[in-house]
Amino acid sequence: MGRMTCDKCNMTLNEFFNKEEIELHPCGKDHLKKREDDNNEIVMSRYDIYMKKTKPVLDFYSNKEGFHEIDGSLKIDEITLQISHILEV
Ligand SMILES: [Zn+2]
Repeated sequence: MGRMTCDKCNMTLNEFFNKEEIELHPCGKDHLKKREDDNNEIVMSRYDIYMKKTKPVLDFYSNKEGFHEIDGSLKIDEITLQISHILEV
């Protein structure tokens, strides 16, 4: 959420976390555009799809033996490491 991309230099900033960088952006902040999928309506419909289609699958498997939860917001290397540990490879 809040991701903005510059249509001149392609730099990506976040409207919540990079307030200062947005103000000082060399191309001018008018070039920073929000992506369409950051639009609230799209986020809500994704959430709806998650609740209807993804959540039931999660509920099903999370009750099974051998289920492991991994934080998908971590760095890819960290996720890979955790998966490796679980699979004992
Ligand atoms: Zn720029």
